[in-house]
Amino acid sequence: APQLTGDFGILMGWVDNYRKLKVRTNADTPNDSRVAREFGAEGIGLCRTEHMFFEADRIAAVREMILSDDVEGRKRALAKILPMQKGDFLGIFREMKDLPVTIRLLDPPLHEFLPQDDKDIDALAKTMGVTAQTLKNKVDYLHEFNPMLGHRGCRLGLTFPEIYDMQVQAIMEAACELTKNEGFTIVPEIMIPLVGVVSELARLRENTVRVCEEVIAAYGVKINYLIGTMIELPRAAITADEIARQADFFSFGTNDLTQTTFGLSRDDAGKFLPFYVESGLLEEDPFVSLDQNGVGVLVKMATEKGRATRPGIKLGICGEHGGDPSSVIFCHKIGLDYVSCSPFRVPIARLAAAHAALEEAN
Ligand code: PEP
Ligand code: MG
Repeated sequence: APQLTGDFGILMGWVDNYRKLKVRTNADTPNDSRVAREFGAEGIGLCRTEHMFFEADRIAAVREMILSDDVEGRKRALAKILPMQKGDFLGIFREMKDLPVTIRLLDPPLHEFLPQDDKDIDALAKTMGVTAQTLKNKVDYLHEFNPMLGHRGCRLGLTFPEIYDMQVQAIMEAACELTKNEGFTIVPEIMIPLVGVVSELARLRENTVRVCEEVIAAYGVKINYLIGTMIELPRAAITADEIARQADFFSFGTNDLTQTTFGLSRDDAGKFLPFYVESGLLEEDPFVSLDQNGVGVLVKMATEKGRATRPGIKLGICGEHGGDPSSVIFCHKIGLDYVSCSPFRVPIARLAAAHAALEEAN
């Protein structure tokens, strides 16, 4: 495993005496969590849960859940996934010891979970006891023209509340079990993605609190938890003062915030953005370096509005920009509490955070 040893290790030790920003990591496996900790990560700022649902042992149950016509069918399918999902979080919490872990509830473009071919549809139709044609019609119905602007993030959690309930149950069961049996002190940070309207967060918060309290009562342990949201839509940034009423923390999802502010698809931008940068229309690729005149203004505005409503609100960034040095310096300047980046960028982020603090002192 990588370690920061020798002169570089010593340098990074010095660096940490100066920086004020915390540096967390984006990780969704125990292995990534371990690597990031060895690089000095002080927690997980974004644990995405999408990949977990694609694991070979559960994708069939996931499809069954999405294509079920009723709550009971969805709950049956989710019951198969729950023990595996709980295992995911046990593994990550154990690696992170008592460091903070922010787990984001499911945020896929829905179509990625749909069965891809006739063979998959036939097999699924048999398990579900319906005809292949019925399932095909359902798959067609769920098709979207713009999935990244569609039925994803919290919208999915609102239309299929059972999914988030299952995830929250898995998170809290893992945390309670480790607290009760292995002496951990875990404060799970449960994060709701793609909120644009405070009422979305209010309803999902209510559901989340209900499930958390049920699990805590069942285990008979005392543990705390936080419920927060991603700020990754311009509307969320503009109304951050309202959203903060329902959020213990904000994490800026600057990948989606850049996509939606520029109206520029993050998946297709490679086709013409290089031309923009080469020919000087843009100074930098805004998906790499935070556009401080545009997206950054929204981030700063949301920081101020969030703190105006809730002075102690915890603020971080978990888009790719969290590992880009000039963006990290910007995050320091506007007073975020932490940046979160992929494990291998943690040392760079630590350096940039120290650089920002030293620059300020001079
Ligand atoms: C983001 O949008 O910046 C983010 C961190 O979430 P994701 O990349 O998973 O959409
Ligand atoms: Mg996002």
